[in-house]
Amino acid sequence: MTLKKATTHTGPRKKNPHSTSRTAASFSKETLRQKGARAKQIDKRLAAAYPDARCTLNFKNPLELLVATILAAQCTDERVNRLTRKLFRKYRSAKAYAQAEADIFEKDITSAGFFRNKTKSILACGRVLLERYSGKVPKTMEELLSLPGVGRKTANVILGNAFGIPGIVVDTHLGRLSRRLGLSNQRDPDKVEQDLMPLIPQNRWTIFSHLLVFHGRRICLARKPDCPNCLLNDLCPSAFGV
Ligand code: SF4
Repeated sequence: MTLKKATTHTGPRKKNPHSTSRTAASFSKETLRQKGARAKQIDKRLAAAYPDARCTLNFKNPLELLVATILAAQCTDERVNRLTRKLFRKYRSAKAYAQAEADIFEKDITSAGFFRNKTKSILACGRVLLERYSGKVPKTMEELLSLPGVGRKTANVILGNAFGIPGIVVDTHLGRLSRRLGLSNQRDPDKVEQDLMPLIPQNRWTIFSHLLVFHGRRICLARKPDCPNCLLNDLCPSAFGV
């Protein structure tokens, strides 16, 4: 029996209206200025394609976003949203988290996975917020980084989405897409952030992060990027070669 070779492409192939004959080599000769111009085109196209791009964690205040973001590590936003619907009714302040019993809280968040470490971080955050910040989530990177379990990614999520202070959120999708798109060749999230900052206007940092995540979830999947149907394939040095 002859086996047909599997193809990664399903469904009708859409023609990219922007398509050019740019070669992979031409991307490697790019100046910083040219790369910045390409990043802006990427931003513009994605913004048109995903007008609904936003933070997909549900929250009503900075404290809820802080807790949701810690819970979202290694867990889907959908699962976190299901969990926090009840959790946020039970715990309504930094004091409530600071005073929570660890074993009870672990049960409250079991479905998020890594519940022991996440419990430690969230309850410790509650205590630090209460002791140092009058129970309020602070608004600066430096202060946010002083909270247990909070790194630059979480801090930028909070700054950008709860306080409107631009930040590039380097999660697994954004890191992968930045490398495929040739905007960074770094693996360390902090270095990816540093590479992107000069390429994207500051007022676009937060939304650009959402746009890349949306594209990473829909088209530029980790294992099977859909390059033929990708609206960025003429701007991407990895197109058809991932
Ligand atoms: S062309 Fe392919 S690798 Fe490049 S962004 Fe699109 S799906 Fe990802």
